[in-house]
Amino acid sequence: MRTPIIAGNWKLNLTIAESRALASAIAKASPESGAEVIVAPVSLSLSAVAEAASGTPLKVAAQHTHAKDSGAFTGELSPALIQDAGASHCIVGHSERRSLFGETDAGVNEKVKALQAQGLIPIVCIGETLAQREAGDAISTVTAQVAAALEGVDVSKLVLAYEPVWAIGTGKTAAPADAQEVHAAIRAWLTEHHASLAQQVQILYGGSVKPANAAELLAQSDIDGALVGGASLKAETFIPIIEAAIAS
Ligand code: PEP
Repeated sequence: MRTPIIAGNWKLNLTIAESRALASAIAKASPESGAEVIVAPVSLSLSAVAEAASGTPLKVAAQHTHAKDSGAFTGELSPALIQDAGASHCIVGHSERRSLFGETDAGVNEKVKALQAQGLIPIVCIGETLAQREAGDAISTVTAQVAAALEGVDVSKLVLAYEPVWAIGTGKTAAPADAQEVHAAIRAWLTEHHASLAQQVQILYGGSVKPANAAELLAQSDIDGALVGGASLKAETFIPIIEAAIAS
């Protein structure tokens, strides 16, 4: 049995005080077992959110990292600093990082290795664009991204997040059966290349998850949780998704 994970990606939203308050509310709804809950605030709020989560089951993620721990990389942050701030996870390869900030498959792989070397758990995002889906290339695109991201890494210490680009922030959700088809293909790839670990890797779905569609998505056999953007910004929309995961 894979424990479901509900992870909130707050993107560039909320002040430090708002982040702390939302984390406290979510921490109260985060169970000791049955589901793992993670929130990813902006980097400047990591310490405050980690403090609010301290002593509770809520875990904290960064949204991005550089692969190097220090050096002449103006504006960047490192796995060592993310850990120092109290986070345990880091999102890597989010489609917004890929499309807006030039994140490449090779860069994702380098960052996954750097995070694991620091003892942090990468949440590795993959997903096809609408054009790739319409061309019938969704599964080949996603499995190629997985293969590149996982080259030479410890597959027992990461989380995957399938996020079709066309479903992120658009209000359009993949039909549960379509999402399941891609999740099953990712698991088949894992079975072929990492047979002993394939059944334990958690594969989250992301793309306009909300209270109204969470239960149906989480009921799919290869969907092991959700990466949630918009609906994670308010306790009243995020907590019902946590409750759906606990009930799944
Ligand atoms: C995301 O940013 O990872 C995401 C899935 O956003 P939304 O839930 O708003 O589509």
